[in-house]
Amino acid sequence: MNAGFQRSLPRLDDLNRAFWTGGEHGKLMILHCQDCGNWLHHAGPVCPKCFGRHLQPEAVSGKGTVFSFTINAKAWAPGMEVPYVLAVVALDEQPGLQMLTNLKDVAPEDVKIGMPVEVFFEHDDDVWLPMFRPAA
Ligand SMILES: [Zn+2]
Repeated sequence: MNAGFQRSLPRLDDLNRAFWTGGEHGKLMILHCQDCGNWLHHAGPVCPKCFGRHLQPEAVSGKGTVFSFTINAKAWAPGMEVPYVLAVVALDEQPGLQMLTNLKDVAPEDVKIGMPVEVFFEHDDDVWLPMFRPAA
């Protein structure tokens, strides 16, 4: 943990609580439509595919690949460690199921599109932030 850097943490509500706290049990929880089987990362009360409302957070494998990434070299806040890698990870469960995250445990120059990655969590206050690192 970087001393001095206060990151802003998400506000928990009924729709996103499972996502931000699943890491306590090592699980990446994504909303899964019980009507059509669609996974949705951007939590809403309705499935965008079938308009069903039976959404249930369920654990995914936590495995995916790097879809795109950018390297941030500027410290936007005091105490922020740079450079760091901001990446869009495509989860294995479904084409188009992507999340914006940080890639860690890898040198920025070694990050490649399509690289297999896996989730891990950083505990901060009452949330477990999902981060990704190269798959073992
Ligand atoms: Zn659906």
